[in-house]
Amino acid sequence: MYEKVKEYNYDPLIKNDEFLIIAGPCAVEDEDNLLKTARFLISRGIKYMRGGAFKPRTSPYTFQGLHVEGLEILKKVKEKTGIKVVVEIMDISQIPYYVENIDIIQVGARNMQNFSLLKALGKTNKPILLKRGFGSTIDEWLFATEYILNEGNPNIILCERGIRTFEPMTRNTLDISSVPIINGITKIPVMIDPSHSSGRSDLILPLSNAAAAVGASGIMVEIHDDPNFALSDKDETIDFNTFDELLDSVKTIVNAMKKKTI
Ligand code: PEP
Ligand code: MN
Repeated sequence: MYEKVKEYNYDPLIKNDEFLIIAGPCAVEDEDNLLKTARFLISRGIKYMRGGAFKPRTSPYTFQGLHVEGLEILKKVKEKTGIKVVVEIMDISQIPYYVENIDIIQVGARNMQNFSLLKALGKTNKPILLKRGFGSTIDEWLFATEYILNEGNPNIILCERGIRTFEPMTRNTLDISSVPIINGITKIPVMIDPSHSSGRSDLILPLSNAAAAVGASGIMVEIHDDPNFALSDKDETIDFNTFDELLDSVKTIVNAMKKKTI
């Protein structure tokens, strides 16, 4: 059993009365664009921006991210604005750079069971955002978490990003019940990613509201100043105005849950 997950007794990265909002583009595209997004988020009180530099794309022929150039852009934007960054890691060899420059290290769905990566991240003390594999059960996800805990790193946030089912109307199916199930098992915070769960920009707002209402510790949302031109995942990306609407409505629910957004 995943004993360390169950007996988790550390100060969680997101407290019981907090709801963390992370937003940003699927992929880092260029400095101007990322700077614009960072400034927009800061103006709305959002402290964490997401942005992928190495994208795990299904097809090798789609945009793969800017790689090292993407990391450099993230670093510049972080220095210029003070925003904190959440970035997906692909490989053990990237750990030293990420430990130094990235605030929350994301392990994507496709790497949830990359056990050597999990063990190596467990030897750091950086916050790790562990996404659920799209073909993984909750048990498998929590065993993956246990790999990180076993090495001594308690700084973990889980992220439900939907699982593959027979339903073709959404990219994945948001397993909303995983949140209260996990909340019943462990004190490790669990967030929801409505973007990759649904693959549809029109569903981001209702699913974000559902996340707040079901007791999730936060949401991670893909935004872009002009989603039509986003280089990856444009169908699930919302623009700044829609994000404003989302903030309004999510905050109402977060307040009703006696929490505050962070
Ligand atoms: C992402 O968040 O950029 C991503 C690739 O998500 P997932 O690993 O959930 O597919
Ligand atoms: Mn994406």
